Amino acid sequence: MNKQLKTDLLNIEDLLEVVKLQGIDFLVQLSNRSTSTKQNVKIDETLNDVGIGGLNTLKLFNDKFEKLINSSTGPRYWGFVTGGSTPASIIGDWLTTIYDQNTKTAKGQGDLSATIELETINLLLDLFNLPNDFLGGFVTGATMSNFTCLAVARQWFGKQLGKDFAKEGITEKINIFSATPHSSTIKSLSMLGVGSNNIENLKVTKGNRESIDIEYLKQKISALNGQPFVLITSGGTVNTVDYDDFEAIAKLKEEYNFWWHIDAAFGAFAACSPKYRYLLSGWETADSITIDCHKWLNVPYENAFFLVKEKHKILQTETFQNSNAPYLGDPLGNFSYLNFLPENSRRLKALPVWFSLKAYGKKGYQDIVENAIEVANYFGQFIENNEYFELLAPVRLNTVCFTLSGEENQHKVFNFLTNLNDTGKVFMSPTLYKGQKGIRAAFVNWRTSNDDINIVTKEMIKLIMTE
Ligand SMILES: *Cc1c(COP(=O)(O)O)cnc(C)c1O
Repeated sequence: MNKQLKTDLLNIEDLLEVVKLQGIDFLVQLSNRSTSTKQNVKIDETLNDVGIGGLNTLKLFNDKFEKLINSSTGPRYWGFVTGGSTPASIIGDWLTTIYDQNTKTAKGQGDLSATIELETINLLLDLFNLPNDFLGGFVTGATMSNFTCLAVARQWFGKQLGKDFAKEGITEKINIFSATPHSSTIKSLSMLGVGSNNIENLKVTKGNRESIDIEYLKQKISALNGQPFVLITSGGTVNTVDYDDFEAIAKLKEEYNFWWHIDAAFGAFAACSPKYRYLLSGWETADSITIDCHKWLNVPYENAFFLVKEKHKILQTETFQNSNAPYLGDPLGNFSYLNFLPENSRRLKALPVWFSLKAYGKKGYQDIVENAIEVANYFGQFIENNEYFELLAPVRLNTVCFTLSGEENQHKVFNFLTNLNDTGKVFMSPTLYKGQKGIRAAFVNWRTSNDDINIVTKEMIKLIMTE
């Protein structure tokens, strides 16, 4: 065995102890760490011949990179939709690395990981109040979850025309409707060979909600003269957390032949609270659903899952069957994740989720979700009451979309945001909403409190006074 490797193996206890202490220090100091960092790192181009061992490498990493790691996992990182990691999810994630299992192995063949994954999916279905007629699995993020679901939708569409797109390639234009698809959906359609230009944009309802105009959709459907189609809907848009009308769409499902996909990457979490659950009612009849775990569930990256109705299991295995993995008869009879999703080898992504769900339960997640909504509203009130800022849209759920007051200040919005992010006290994202430059703050981190909002609003006022 190589000398450095041998030394590291002998000293594994010391190595892990040092890392543990460093990890604790990071987590304890998280609130004081900058939310963004100005970097000027020289990127190495060569690798040393002889290694320096684990401990020296840690020192090297600390000197070169550690100070520049920002607190995106902390309470004042409101950019994109960024969650943190609960303590139990960190335990589960560490153990995932230690055990280093490969979840491609078939259920019941010596490796337990697929069983843990199936159990975790059941826990999630229970958390979200969804029926257990879905088959689910873990992928890296909502983008890959959308990809997985839409890949099965593609196969379904082919089947309606008597074609097998997985084998033959796509030979027909696929009818796809959506009103407010997330950029990752468009990307998925590009990757799937469906073509992102093939989305037909639906009208949204009048008023300030951006959800599909159902009457308009019905007109579109009748123009298809009975042809099948794929409907991509939103369970929480990123700018304003708008939901399509799932009850109305569930009704359409009784009448028309279409694949219904819901991107509920973070909006699914409304189901954790009795107060907000109504936003999703009807969603249980969808064919496929995308939900992210590294956002509002607050587990480490990379973690999301897909749900596809179990009745589509043949379509799903036709899409993902690994050619050298035999499956005979019922794909669930000889179940292997290998035949149900894009990846072959995967880490045991379910474990951090399993730990966090068991550790905090339904009530724990209800509290995380309701807290995020409360802090969003508290921040929204500040924006509403302050003369220098104004809301671009009413605060819905956990996202605040705002801008600087006054037409004459529109050109200053992004500059203001850059300066604000440069303080290192907070991080928010730029956005365009109905043609106006805006700033978006999304709250999903379990740690965020009103104190954090107060720290940020103070910085905002300080900055606006000096501009
Ligand atoms: C974040 C998000 C995605 C993409 O998720 P990743 O985990 O970054 O791949 C897709 N859809 C919605 C609605 C999202 O909020």
